[in-house]
Amino acid sequence: MVQAEHDVAIQDTDRLEGRAALVNNVKAAVALAGAVRSTLGPRGLDKMLVDADGGSLVTNDGVTVIETAKVEHPTARLLISASSSQDKSARDGTTSTVVLTAELLQNSLELVRMGIHPSTIISGYIQAEREAISELERISRRANYPDEVKSVISTTLAGKVSTSLASHITDIALEAAGILSEEEGSDDLERLRVKRLEVGGGSSTDSSLVNGLMIAKSRVDMGTPEASGGGTIAIIDGGLENAKLEMEAEIEVSSPGVLRGFHERSLAKLKKSVDHLSSLDVDLLIVRDGISEEAISMLSDSGITTYRRFERGDLEILSRITGARIIRDPSRASGEDLGVFTSRKEESIAGVTHTTIKGSEMGALTVVFRGTSPQIREESMRSFDDAMGVSFRMLRDSRVVPGGGAIQTHLARHIRSFALGNPGREQLAMEAYAAALEVIPRTLAENAGLDPIDVLLDLSAAQTSDRDDGAWIGLDAMTGKKARMDQLGILDPLFVTSHSISGSTEATISVLRINDVLWAKQDPTTPDWKDEEDQED
Ligand code: ADP
Ligand code: MG
Repeated sequence: MVQAEHDVAIQDTDRLEGRAALVNNVKAAVALAGAVRSTLGPRGLDKMLVDADGGSLVTNDGVTVIETAKVEHPTARLLISASSSQDKSARDGTTSTVVLTAELLQNSLELVRMGIHPSTIISGYIQAEREAISELERISRRANYPDEVKSVISTTLAGKVSTSLASHITDIALEAAGILSEEEGSDDLERLRVKRLEVGGGSSTDSSLVNGLMIAKSRVDMGTPEASGGGTIAIIDGGLENAKLEMEAEIEVSSPGVLRGFHERSLAKLKKSVDHLSSLDVDLLIVRDGISEEAISMLSDSGITTYRRFERGDLEILSRITGARIIRDPSRASGEDLGVFTSRKEESIAGVTHTTIKGSEMGALTVVFRGTSPQIREESMRSFDDAMGVSFRMLRDSRVVPGGGAIQTHLARHIRSFALGNPGREQLAMEAYAAALEVIPRTLAENAGLDPIDVLLDLSAAQTSDRDDGAWIGLDAMTGKKARMDQLGILDPLFVTSHSISGSTEATISVLRINDVLWAKQDPTTPDWKDEEDQED
């Protein structure tokens, strides 16, 4: 860029430097955390989200709240992405991540005001985090299966759905996770291989697991059998439709005969495809696109039961459970492309025909969500997502840590004593880090209507006096009393807590590194930071 242009660009921006930038960023983070902190824990309040069109959604799920919020500020967006990353890799702990990041940032601001340089804070935070993670792993222990694993999942769902629904959803999630646990693949398996199907009506505890694919569709020809005890299946990523006369084809339609000839050729092609499928002994045909009327009768005459307009994801699930390959061109199918289904049935649920297809291979499922209103079904679905995510990961790593603020209270104590061995300014950063961790027990206490300071002092004292198992003493938010978290089954998966701590630390550090932010002057979201900073000083 030439100098003149450069100068113009600079004139067009306000430059926020150092502390001012940090103040601004911390404010954004604190505002965002303020929006979700009241949902933390089993006694957290529900939030009602209202969109511009007046549509509303009541939820207790932190990530839903902030992902729905229209947030423009770059730091707030960074926090949202930290919480989304938590959601992606651990499926839980999103609210904690936002609340902890905002607290870490706020404490850094105090340090900056005391004259400590951000790079010193960063270095102290990194050491404190390393120590926290290793202590976290030391405290963790394996949960026994299935009782404690169930407790962990119930802890995940606490406050989100009623206890009876939570235990129902936990059972479904654990069973589903068990079926998928044998499979190779990454963490997404639990999303890709489980279809979520909403069916109106019924009670939410009627939600159920189908080991196979269930879909709100019926066969194209009611003359073909309603159910089947199994057979061969072909899956086509395409359709069986008449070829269309397209403008681009530039066929000169000079006489009606040309059109008829075209139509006949297209029918002959369809017939060839159907005959080919029939020669392969296909019993069940599933296609992604449409099937023309002519093809429907040809297929039925050949004894092939057919379904059309399946989505790609459903084709993949079917392919997984039947071993059929998804092919594009039916006329080129070979015997090896076919799979085997073990049953197919149609039934009417809530007035809509649903088809269930099962296969002999494992690895894909459908969860049917029932409930009278879309809100109820969606809340069950979100809870199931958390429960399923946690169950699936727990089968791979079953280590747990105490919930109810116990582990954070313990880590805070641990880091304070670790900090003593590190004299100098970084020690202050480590102490600030320890204090930030306590935001979790404090917020859990607040949301349970208790005095956060009393609760923290009480927990800390109880933990200190129990030399062996102090770390397991936390707050039971339901009774408001301190208790052994393992005895009450208030347990969090290690991966949720550890990912939340490292994600929050990372997000905080990246904000601390921005000490020079350029704001476009035209940007209406630029806050009046200068005046406020002047007043504070
Ligand atoms: P997040 O999005 O961070 O998972 P939640 O609203 O799910 O937020 O709250 C999780 C926190 O609530 C965890 O720290 C967990 O230990 C705590 N918690 C769950 N059940 C209880 C309980 N009965 N008493 C106290 N704390 C609990
Ligand atoms: Mg949670």
